[in-house]
Amino acid sequence: MKPYAEMSKEELVALRRDLKAKYHDFQTKDLKLDMSRGKPSVEQLDLSMGMMDVLSSDDDLTCEDGTDCRNYGVLTGIDEAKELLADMMEVNPSTIIIYGNSSLNVMYDTVSRAMTHGIMGNEPWCRQDKIKFLCPVPGYDRHFAITEYFGIEMINVPMTSEGPDMDMVERLVASDPAIKGIWCVPKYSNPQGYSYSDETVRRFARLEPAAPDFRIFWDNAYGVHHLYDHDQDHLIEILAECKRAGNPDLVYKFASTSKISFPGSGIAAIATSHNNLEDIKVQLKNQTIGHDKVNQLRHVRFFGDIHGMVEHMRKHADIIRPKFEAVEEILERELGGLGIGQWTKPKGGYFISFDSLDGCAKDIVARCKKAGVVMTGAGATYPYGKDPHDSNIRIAPTYPPLGDLVVATELFALCVKLTSAEKLLK
Ligand code: PLP
Repeated sequence: MKPYAEMSKEELVALRRDLKAKYHDFQTKDLKLDMSRGKPSVEQLDLSMGMMDVLSSDDDLTCEDGTDCRNYGVLTGIDEAKELLADMMEVNPSTIIIYGNSSLNVMYDTVSRAMTHGIMGNEPWCRQDKIKFLCPVPGYDRHFAITEYFGIEMINVPMTSEGPDMDMVERLVASDPAIKGIWCVPKYSNPQGYSYSDETVRRFARLEPAAPDFRIFWDNAYGVHHLYDHDQDHLIEILAECKRAGNPDLVYKFASTSKISFPGSGIAAIATSHNNLEDIKVQLKNQTIGHDKVNQLRHVRFFGDIHGMVEHMRKHADIIRPKFEAVEEILERELGGLGIGQWTKPKGGYFISFDSLDGCAKDIVARCKKAGVVMTGAGATYPYGKDPHDSNIRIAPTYPPLGDLVVATELFALCVKLTSAEKLLK
């Protein structure tokens, strides 16, 4: 089939009639499918069930330094968990604080602390005139929700396949002291699955912010989430690069085991400079006596070490790779060459990002919903839910069983075609 833009009005009208009939067929199927959130599937969760058995009532729950994990204490996490997560985050264990069950919670907490108490002796953000964050777009809706909640103004920065537009980042950060942070998902980004190039990471480490309390919020949520064994993205490690560049305090690095063990029941961590760690601990010691050490120990005993975790992630990849490939195959078969959409082909992470013709995304998502397939809301990948082009749609292939995913993607492709044909006829 030729590109839609090259079709005559008559051809488009005939096409629309044909696509509408197909859409009605889908509507009679009474589908109830969900491609909206990036959750692991049941089979993926089953991979970690051994974690339920690694600690039993007969086991000694003493950790390496002699601490009884059943009791209070150890504010920044047990040593063996620090070692495991440090290897996962490619940093030194001395740079880490282990938190509770959610890295998003740590990010929220980090923004909240800066708001009320400031960063390293600077004026709290709530007492400063205006606070702004740079938001690479499309991006992760829950990042944007945190900054919106605190009334922080969000500025869109376009993403490229190499990372955010660094000319724009450098210019804005250097010229505006109200800009205090930037949300980054540097590896297998949410939603595009892009990984930052070496040049991008180097330029981040060499930013010259006008604000002394500017920080990069480096959310390494998909650091070990490769889809392929022999074709993986590897990034320059940002903490080390910042140190090399003479900017050791510039970055907070976040990660968790949410999509490695159990989402909501994993362990999360922050890695950052000595100065930032000391600053955080002033709050932390008032906030808690310590996080869940039994869960930390459970993770260490289950994975053993980073090699165990890498092996475990291969099993995840074996489950989700066919799903990503099925979506890509259907999109190519149904939409390839039609000029009505583009999509990413990630080598890891949890999402595929789709861009429709301008002004079509909301209608496509609404149409999918009417036929029983829930997608992430159009606009969700932008601050304030406002996609200026109304074109980006996040596809989350991991959760549905393969059979459901195939049907859902076929319906999605049909909705893209129908909506695009209608758009071109307007
Ligand atoms: N960061 C990103 C980029 C994510 O995509 C997600 C989950 O989808 C999270 C953080 C959530 O992490 P956690 O479960 O550790 O709060």
